[in-house]
Amino acid sequence: MAKDKYATKAGAAARAKALGCSGTHSMDENGKTVYMPCSTHGAYQKAKGSGGSKSSGSTKSSGSSYESKANDKTAELFKEVNQALYTQVEGDEKALVDAMIGVVREYGKFGSEGSSVYVAYTPAAENKDAAIGVKCGNCVFHFDAEDGIGCSLIAEDIEENGNCRLAMIPPGLVSVGMPTVREAQSKYKVPEGVQSAAKRAQKWISEGKAGSGFTDVGSRRAGQLAAGGTVSRDTVARMKSYFARHNTDRKAEGFSSGEQGYPSPGRVAWDAWGGDAGRTWVTRINLDS
Ligand code: SF4
Repeated sequence: MAKDKYATKAGAAARAKALGCSGTHSMDENGKTVYMPCSTHGAYQKAKGSGGSKSSGSTKSSGSSYESKANDKTAELFKEVNQALYTQVEGDEKALVDAMIGVVREYGKFGSEGSSVYVAYTPAAENKDAAIGVKCGNCVFHFDAEDGIGCSLIAEDIEENGNCRLAMIPPGLVSVGMPTVREAQSKYKVPEGVQSAAKRAQKWISEGKAGSGFTDVGSRRAGQLAAGGTVSRDTVARMKSYFARHNTDRKAEGFSSGEQGYPSPGRVAWDAWGGDAGRTWVTRINLDS
């Protein structure tokens, strides 16, 4: 096997250590999965280019070592995200992007051997939400590759118009249109079925069934929908986006009553956003008209 390509993840991980990087990445070679050191190929090339091992001598650097380390960190990160999109996320969203990159550096890409994170990649031909902007080409984690685009997060060959449930898309790129004042003020009456689903979710949340990944956003949405009344066009658009990204959660064990682990955290979140009734409701609302 060619240099730095390993049949096992462990072999690549050991080499990563020697090179001074962490994690591994995989690729397909003649139908076989091979592993290489470092969490991305960019990181590998950088590690190789820098002479490899952390203990490669006492190279002097200009400027303070703190400054040079910070610059190295930023340069490294920019190889793993789309720089232009990354600069459009901030606050907790940026923190989440940084954290996810950190996890990949530590453990390797999601969806690779040994990873139990369910990524649910949807190829371009099946991604109905590409048209509204829920696609890899708008996701912070895509980068330009020689033969198209690549993803720093998941172990898949991706396409511009594909997507996965881990998509991180800066505000404004999911095209629900810029509402006019009249549209922004227009209200949509929450159906009873949506209200019931949200109330069910609230009960599950209070029983501690939402899981550690459940966010305040989900909790607030459940509260809003459980209260009934009307919601804005923006809320409907957010619900559409949520259901588009999380449809695959329905296939996981524990989503349906009677299954082991019911209600799964995915089911709790799904109902917090209005459940099946919510999805049916917002799908019928045409925000373009
Ligand atoms: S949507 Fe998913 S697969 Fe596509 S670039 Fe983002 S993280 Fe990668």
